[in-house]
Amino acid sequence: MTEHLNDFNKIEEKWRNYWEKEKVYSFDPKSKKKIYSVDTPPPTVSGRMHIGHACSYSQQDFIIRYKRMRGYNIFYPFGADNNGVATERLIEKEEHVRSRDMSREAFIKLCLNYLKKELPLFIQDWKNIGISCDWEMGYSTINEHSRKISQWSFIDLYKKNRVYRKDAPAMWCPECQTGISQVEAQDKEIETTFNDIVFKADGRDLIIATTRPELLPACVAVFYHPSDSRYKKLKGKKAKVPLFNFEVPIMEDPRVDKEKGTGIVMCCTFGDQTDMEWQKAYNLPIKEAISQEGRMTELAGKYKGTTIKDARKTIIEDLKKSGLLKKQEKIVHTVNVHERCGVEIEFVKSRQWFVKYLDLKKQMIEWGRKLNWYPQFMEVRYDNWIKGLQWDWLISRQRYFGIPFPVWYCKRCGEVILADEKDLPVDPLIDKPNKQCKCGCKDFIAEADVLDTWFTSSMSPIIATKLLDEENEKKAFPMDLRPQAHEIISFWLFNTVVKSNLHFKKNPWKDVVISGYVTLQGEKMSKSKGNIINPQEVIEKYGADAIRYWAASSKLGEDFDYQEKDVITGKRFVTKLMNATNFIFTNLKGYKPKKAQLIETDRMFLVILNELISKCTDAFEKYEYSRAKSEADTFFWNVFCDNYLEIVKNRVYNGTKEEKESAFYTLYTSLFTILKLMAPFTPFVTEEIYQKYFKDNEKSKSIHISEWPEKMKIEKKKSDEEIYNLLLSVIGRVRQEKSLAKKSMNSKIRLVIDKKEKEMLRKIMNDLKAVTNAVEIKEGKFKVGFV
Ligand SMILES: [Zn+2]
Ligand SMILES: [Zn+2]
Repeated sequence: MTEHLNDFNKIEEKWRNYWEKEKVYSFDPKSKKKIYSVDTPPPTVSGRMHIGHACSYSQQDFIIRYKRMRGYNIFYPFGADNNGVATERLIEKEEHVRSRDMSREAFIKLCLNYLKKELPLFIQDWKNIGISCDWEMGYSTINEHSRKISQWSFIDLYKKNRVYRKDAPAMWCPECQTGISQVEAQDKEIETTFNDIVFKADGRDLIIATTRPELLPACVAVFYHPSDSRYKKLKGKKAKVPLFNFEVPIMEDPRVDKEKGTGIVMCCTFGDQTDMEWQKAYNLPIKEAISQEGRMTELAGKYKGTTIKDARKTIIEDLKKSGLLKKQEKIVHTVNVHERCGVEIEFVKSRQWFVKYLDLKKQMIEWGRKLNWYPQFMEVRYDNWIKGLQWDWLISRQRYFGIPFPVWYCKRCGEVILADEKDLPVDPLIDKPNKQCKCGCKDFIAEADVLDTWFTSSMSPIIATKLLDEENEKKAFPMDLRPQAHEIISFWLFNTVVKSNLHFKKNPWKDVVISGYVTLQGEKMSKSKGNIINPQEVIEKYGADAIRYWAASSKLGEDFDYQEKDVITGKRFVTKLMNATNFIFTNLKGYKPKKAQLIETDRMFLVILNELISKCTDAFEKYEYSRAKSEADTFFWNVFCDNYLEIVKNRVYNGTKEEKESAFYTLYTSLFTILKLMAPFTPFVTEEIYQKYFKDNEKSKSIHISEWPEKMKIEKKKSDEEIYNLLLSVIGRVRQEKSLAKKSMNSKIRLVIDKKEKEMLRKIMNDLKAVTNAVEIKEGKFKVGFV
């Protein structure tokens, strides 16, 4: 251990401050270099950075640091997503308030104040892990800049006939009391009962099985399959609904599953998707039994005002009492729940805004084809999502906190009045249209709903590039890279592609890189399961470099396990790199790099180093950072530390002037190359070493804006690799013999090696002698004799 490693937290802090002060990661608006622009995921402000973030942001950062060293003018802004339900809930909890009990204006003010205070703390976690964003190019999805762009997006889509408002059954969360979109619905298995309920028809019992008896008051028909002979004779007759005693028509439709339950089903307004299809197909009446608050309506008679669950319970009891419940069976079935709160989704008729896009499925698939996916197989998830789309995108939310629609309605004729683009952003609850309605009316009703948070975050490429001046904005869009997690392909990636194509008829980026998520012992981490690893604690214990080193061990798109031992390996790498550096610079004190006449061993070693540079560069060009890291890491431990340093030691201490010069040059060059190849992964330790030992000789103020290593002009001979590997193999065999004989590694030997091998190693015999500590090397059958 060296003095530096005891206080790596301080070292990391030192370089974080230095990078920020020296603007090492700042976008340079005047630069002539080619721009590389990144659509950074804005993390949701709903708590602190978790280990999944630590991993996926590190992975994108490897790529971006590589690109920066390749000479690109990096545009890597950092956003925070803070306009959604998650943030609203966090603030309600932290500030002990309920948004519903406050005015919208007061609640939003409270939110903005809270965020002002908390946002820097939130962002600090990303700084601590070494993300190389331009922190001055920041946005939040609720700030004025984002509100303006989001509202512009709505107006533009309105003008393009891509948004519409409709009074229709829509997915509704009774808990959050808002309309939601298909992507927010999640499957969940729940236990419930299948109830055989007695309807009356034609003077006899008609048994219908249902999981939702509370919908009886909304029953509008019963259906059976046209080929079902059991019910054929009932066609056109009426059935009496139990408890509620009104009659509904008995009808046939091929959508009924003959095998399920009794083969006859009740159709209730908005019970499920099929119910809605039947309502439309047969023009059935609309009966709403459930309110937007998730309570029974007047239609439910004496059950009015109770919750859905309570109504279900009481109705089952009442059926039982009246002898109208034939059978009850416990089943497990899948229902749709709201992903935010886990509450079962209802269909409720309400007036909502939609983005019209179901007609574009074919085009959407095409748009996805044009993207470069890393890894490629992730494209399937995008395709599958589109194939399963059943609804247009519901974008209005009956919530407080969020970006308002830039819309009013005329009080007299109902006409939609849009805000003027030059007035954006507006809050229709406070602002007024600056013109009268076509009908002459000057009174307006403000749209009180807010936009779906994804409606805004799907504008992130525009929100980001509009932070630039006009000239750079044009160069930066479409952006080069969208990095993100696979879980939100259907949310964020899909919606961003759609928006960009609707607005600009082009994709928002060229490449997308998708990272996997982090598990613990194979299980997904979650607060409720209590299996959470806090990255903050890991950083404090092992350092950010160590956790990044771990994150680099998994490929893009791969879900992988958090293992503390892998972080410890990262920590060991940092220590080893410092130790190797200290050894080298104890001997190279004051060394000024200059070209030297290379000793044959050094030349061959540099040829192999050249190969490493090619391999790492090639891997990074394909965004295969984990391969780049593993190549550089293995080279460092095996080829450099275990062998080259041992080979060259003797020359460093005792060599002639020429031998020393060659060794010094090779050590300096190879260590510098290794530092650069590892700089994207472990930015702190590589900066520490660079600043201490290299900066005086090199131009860049930071290793992170130094040039990515190019292959050196070293003469390469056909048999270089073979000879060098032979050298390593002989060294290995000698070490093995010494260790078998329980001798120390520097014990003196007489070495006998194969004639052909000796001939091959002729030019590097001195180094072989030195590293094996052989007093002589003879030809013959391999043998190690101790002196
Ligand atoms: Zn909900
Ligand atoms: Zn009007």
